[in-house]
Amino acid sequence: MKPIDLRSDTVTLPSPAMREAMSRAPLGDDVYGEDPTVNRLQELCADLLGKEAALFVASGTMANQVALGVLTRPGDEVICDQGAHPVNFEGGAMPALWGIQPRTLKGERGLLDPVEVEAAIRPENEHFPRSRVLEIENTHNRGGGSVYPLERVRALAEVARRRGLDMYLDGARLMNAVVASGVPARDYAEGATLASLCFSKGLGAPVGSILAGDRDRIRDARRLRKRLGGAMRQSGVLAAAAIFALENNVARLAEDHDNARALAAALSAIPGVSIPHPVETNLLFACFPGRSAVGLVARFRALGVLANPEGFQPDLVRFVTHLDVSRDDVLEAARRVAGAVAP
Ligand SMILES: *Cc1c(COP(=O)(O)O)cnc(C)c1O
Repeated sequence: MKPIDLRSDTVTLPSPAMREAMSRAPLGDDVYGEDPTVNRLQELCADLLGKEAALFVASGTMANQVALGVLTRPGDEVICDQGAHPVNFEGGAMPALWGIQPRTLKGERGLLDPVEVEAAIRPENEHFPRSRVLEIENTHNRGGGSVYPLERVRALAEVARRRGLDMYLDGARLMNAVVASGVPARDYAEGATLASLCFSKGLGAPVGSILAGDRDRIRDARRLRKRLGGAMRQSGVLAAAAIFALENNVARLAEDHDNARALAAALSAIPGVSIPHPVETNLLFACFPGRSAVGLVARFRALGVLANPEGFQPDLVRFVTHLDVSRDDVLEAARRVAGAVAP
């Protein structure tokens, strides 16, 4: 029985065509700025995100941390949703690397409210930390793949600008938001001083993220990337996969979204299973009231379906669709889940 892996969109393997593009890529030493493939990727992404410059980094975590490091000084505060990736999934990097603290808000499925953000900005007073960065995530991972309406992003950017904060857009899955909403990436990034996106999630590349912004900030980001040990040499082999992903794997994200909706429909038809949120992109949470997600995912695994507990609510399981699962796969996964939860 072939296992169907719905744990994450990071599990995709580079396709033969992507590997072919990697093997043909012209290379150089990127620390000298001489890797033509990395340079090309950075130019493509600066253009995609509507920024002056961009920097190829090793991971989404590195993009987030380099961005926050560029925009803050020790003692500063970052306003973000309580489920934000840098708060929960980056090994405590904000305090450990930069001496900064998060001020977390409870967004609606991870999406922040401009009025609440404004209320959380500290007044100028020696007692308080300095509110310095507003961090938003689009799509929102812990929010279940929720997509920001463009108007909301604009309103948040307006608050940040008016109150002297920089906005940072964690766009690990920004292209999912773009495909789901029809809003161009550069429009989402417009009010953000720095914006990132990941190639190793739904876009199907093996490694890497991009961070984009103005020339000065990206120059600072290069230094912090170096400091973190993330300056790589012939990284064009990796950038080639990212270029291939941008050229071939963006429009097809719509299939992942359709498959996630089909999976949600099939799961919600199983007695004892509910889907608490609308499915907007490629992530979905399924609720199994009265049962333990940890116990359930072990049963699913035995029946050939890999999924992760959502991790914060004990009866919630997260399923993620991606390039390496088909419509038939997700429908088969739902049948296996039905078998696993049957009394
Ligand atoms: C996955 C993810 C990241 C970065 O993850 P890496 O595994 O370090 O590439 C950042 N932000 C969000 C919202 C993510 O989902």
